[in-house]
Amino acid sequence: MISITGLRKNFQSGDHAVAALQGIDLEVARGEFFVLLGPSGSGKTTLLRSVAGLEKPDGGEISLDGKLVFSKSRRIAEPPEARGIGMVFQSYAIWPHLTVAENIGLVLTHGRSRLSKSEAQTRIRHALSLVQLDDFENRPARLLSGGQQQRVALARALAVNPALLLMDEPLSNLDARLREEVRTNIKKLATRLGITALYVTHDQVEAMVLADRIAVMAHGEILQIGNPFELYRAPANSQIAEFFGSINWLHGKMLADGRVDTEIGPLVIAAPRQYEGGVVVGIRPEDVKLVPASAELENRLAGNVVTSFFLGDHVMCEVMIGATIVNVKSLPDDAKPAGGVTVHLPKQRIVIFPEAEPQQSLQPR
Ligand code: ATP
Repeated sequence: MISITGLRKNFQSGDHAVAALQGIDLEVARGEFFVLLGPSGSGKTTLLRSVAGLEKPDGGEISLDGKLVFSKSRRIAEPPEARGIGMVFQSYAIWPHLTVAENIGLVLTHGRSRLSKSEAQTRIRHALSLVQLDDFENRPARLLSGGQQQRVALARALAVNPALLLMDEPLSNLDARLREEVRTNIKKLATRLGITALYVTHDQVEAMVLADRIAVMAHGEILQIGNPFELYRAPANSQIAEFFGSINWLHGKMLADGRVDTEIGPLVIAAPRQYEGGVVVGIRPEDVKLVPASAELENRLAGNVVTSFFLGDHVMCEVMIGATIVNVKSLPDDAKPAGGVTVHLPKQRIVIFPEAEPQQSLQPR
């Protein structure tokens, strides 16, 4: 559905150039909910706007549904209205002095499609029913709540029957509770309509809830593409691992037998690769298990609980192993508030990276 090759975009900022997109290659399948995730300034919005036709890249090509809509070398740059897209912006871009129906109708009667009044009316009603605002047609837009404005913006994007729905941080102006509710509704609606969606966010939880696949971006590049499970379990580097949730890092060195000699002792790794020099191994707090002292297991270590917090459905504790603190998240029934414990680090759950890996920070520059 979306096919992007070698997309580049530079912006001039004062006396220096900012490389907002540094040669992006991306394929999004029809019906896929695809999320661009990354910190502020990573190039997500520039990529989305380039797909929409609102930004003119400096190089590369974009095809939508098999049609070349942008090519620098072939001098093709189709305008946004010729690309079959619906778009929802962070700001909603709703006219306060118009009614809900008028806001939606504008794109139908003044855009490329120029529908008749009655056709437009039918589309408006259908779009409003999709977002559960059936009785809001004649409501002045200035009287809508934030959540309702968001839904009108979504209805307007859907009213053009787009092949592709583009959304740029559409939930960031909603409070936390409403954001959760709306994101679930967006996901259900996209699935029901079988629509292809490209969605920008800097919130990894939002990305994981919505996405079939996620592209993690930093500094104008895609660092990794995968489904939420792959990105959480098999991150391409330590920054991506951290971006998707908390993780314990242990420094160490590879031993000749494939184990890693870490600061808490030698650990067996499921898929050891031979790295020269130092390595870091990571394990998420929920993957560290508290086990009986007698358990016959690889990577079994003795430690001491130094702090323990009961948080209702789970317990977070810090376990001192040697001189290192390891964070452990366990079920309340398994936890111990203090004293000696035995922990197990399952080898399949341990990730490993070279210490000196030239990594790109996911922090904004
Ligand atoms: P955010 O989440 O903050 O919107 P983003 O990941 O969407 O960030 P972009 O808005 O695509 O990032 O910006 C990428 C880089 O390009 C940033 O360094 C930004 O400052 C720069 N940039 C974007 N638009 C312009 C512009 N019109 N003029 C100059 N620099 C720009």
